[in-house]
Amino acid sequence: MGEKVKKTDAEWREILSPQAYYVLREKGTERAFVGKYHNLHDDGIYRCAACGEPLFSSETKYDSGSGWPSFYAPLSEDNVETESDRRLLMARTEVMCSRCGSHLGHVFEDGPQPTGLRYCLNSVSLDFDPAGTPDGEE
Ligand code: FE
Repeated sequence: MGEKVKKTDAEWREILSPQAYYVLREKGTERAFVGKYHNLHDDGIYRCAACGEPLFSSETKYDSGSGWPSFYAPLSEDNVETESDRRLLMARTEVMCSRCGSHLGHVFEDGPQPTGLRYCLNSVSLDFDPAGTPDGEE
């Protein structure tokens, strides 16, 4: 993983669109089925839209039917962090980029094998890179 990225709210606002700031930095959620990646099946990697870290691969992406891009595993356990989220009065587990702390989405335990996990992410939190390879290198 690259060096940790730390920025002030003002710095994030400068480099992110208002919607990306709302989701990545204020833990918002984009509406289902309107994001740019829930229906994308191309080969490549998905980077953090805030810091560029490679986070997920098309190899673990699957159609969950939820309307959000869904993966059963990250590229590396080290690249994502999870935290308990009780904001909506239901227990959910938040997923964040380990490098910059930005909000990506949530992980649920109703995914397919081999992990049984469903990383349910916001398209706006991701940046698809068709040239990327699963080991995270160009
Ligand atoms: Fe990041």
